[in-house]
Amino acid sequence: MDIAEYDKFLIDGAWQAPATTDRIEVTSANTGRPIGSVPAASKRDIDAAVAAARRAFDDPSGWAHWAPKDRAAAILRLADALAARSDRTAELVSAQVGMPINTAKSFEGSVPEKLLRFYASMIMQTPSDDLRGETLVTRRPLGVVAAITPWNFPEVLAFFKLAPALAAGCTVVMKPSSDAVLDAGVLAEAVIEAGLPPGILNIVPAGREIGSYLVTHPGVDQISFTGSTPVGQDIATNAGKLLRRVTLELGGKSAAVILDDADLESNQAAMFGASLLNNGQTCFAGTRILAPSSRYNEVVDFYTALTESARIGNSLDPATQIGPMVSARQQERVESYIAKGISDGARLTTGKKRPTGLDGLEGGHFVAPAIFADVDNSTTIAQEEIFGPVLAIVRYEDDADAIRLANQSIYGLGGSVWSSDHDRALGVARQIDSGTIGINGYQIDVNAPYGGVKDSGMGRELGPEALLEYTEPKAIYLSPRMTADNAG
Ligand code: NAD
Repeated sequence: MDIAEYDKFLIDGAWQAPATTDRIEVTSANTGRPIGSVPAASKRDIDAAVAAARRAFDDPSGWAHWAPKDRAAAILRLADALAARSDRTAELVSAQVGMPINTAKSFEGSVPEKLLRFYASMIMQTPSDDLRGETLVTRRPLGVVAAITPWNFPEVLAFFKLAPALAAGCTVVMKPSSDAVLDAGVLAEAVIEAGLPPGILNIVPAGREIGSYLVTHPGVDQISFTGSTPVGQDIATNAGKLLRRVTLELGGKSAAVILDDADLESNQAAMFGASLLNNGQTCFAGTRILAPSSRYNEVVDFYTALTESARIGNSLDPATQIGPMVSARQQERVESYIAKGISDGARLTTGKKRPTGLDGLEGGHFVAPAIFADVDNSTTIAQEEIFGPVLAIVRYEDDADAIRLANQSIYGLGGSVWSSDHDRALGVARQIDSGTIGINGYQIDVNAPYGGVKDSGMGRELGPEALLEYTEPKAIYLSPRMTADNAG
């Protein structure tokens, strides 16, 4: 794989030299060896990025005031520039975070472009003004958005924010996670090629402290954050003091509810995806499997066989189904949860040892997928987000018990219900306290709102709802005399 080195940031529509010599060095999740580096943004770089976004937004004839068709045309040019780089983006994400390359191609290499096209077409169709009674209601873009993203799906999750924010007429300062920065360099190249106006999208990779600085920066109007719940709470506290709008997409511990009439065999691939996508490093993954007492052993054997047959290996190999964890830190964290499950009395059916015999990948951060049976839903491995290939199988007695256990969680992001009876499954899905849920599969649909309840966050991304997150209604009362004068 080619090494990716960047020396500058995308600020104000051009490559700009960093204010300091600090760098973020990136190693491969597969081998632990260097694969590139980027400059690390300092406070001065954030100041420059916010100032550029501010100028671009405040320009009285700028982006926010462009006709929707002109904004859409610029957004479509960016979609084309990204499409031309989709393989490189997928490869860099795969090597950085361990995402199997086929998953990286179908998500990271292609969803960003689709999202840009989706919102470009939506702004062409959505009227920005409507008359209600005597009042003209307009929607105007909120301003400068601080977009803070995690490492697990670095491009897809960035575009959950960028596509609607840009389409709405906002300008953006994006701070990627320091664990996934090389793909952001490719994105910057695409922005320059597409000729987006200066300052519309600025990209400043940095760590946590700088993220915190960006969130509280006086030049920012809105924060859109995806990441862990504790950081989201911290950001919400700061946003509350500043009365600054905030969207939070946070952690999860979703339930996969297997009803007693579920067809396990024909849903094998979908069940794997719903719980183990991206090696379990997925916020909506259904990592709590709720299994009916009447079929408990069968479900345990099914998941054990499913994971034991999964091919573990180099994430860049198209045959790989489970790649490494993003970092040694994440590998240790996942292993500590496996140890905790054992010490809390759950039964580990598979995943006792680190995978061995992976030629040339000795420095990679691999964890064998682990299945726990006989799990009490109140214990740590059933309650905390592990963010790795570890599934906890909890027994339930009837549908009401399954719903009770599914809702016994601080989180409410995703989930799934598996059944041969569509109406019964829908009835159960309606009673599960989560922002999204799937029946006999789980996919994120760009047409529909996505987000969490409880400690999984607030606000919604995707669908028409996301455009509303980046705009504010303004009501202009038109006095009857004025209306009459105009009519006359
Ligand atoms: P994280 O919370 O550690 O970091 C996320 C981002 O926030 C990074 O860019 C980080 O640098 C930045 N950051 C950290 N502290 C900050 C602070 N105090 N102020 C401002 N920015 C700060 O999360 P992570 O480890 O990168 O990602 C994994 C987490 O993200 C998991 O909990 C996962 O569930 C969650 N996630 C949620 C969704 C969703 O849609 N709900 C999607 C993907 C990931």
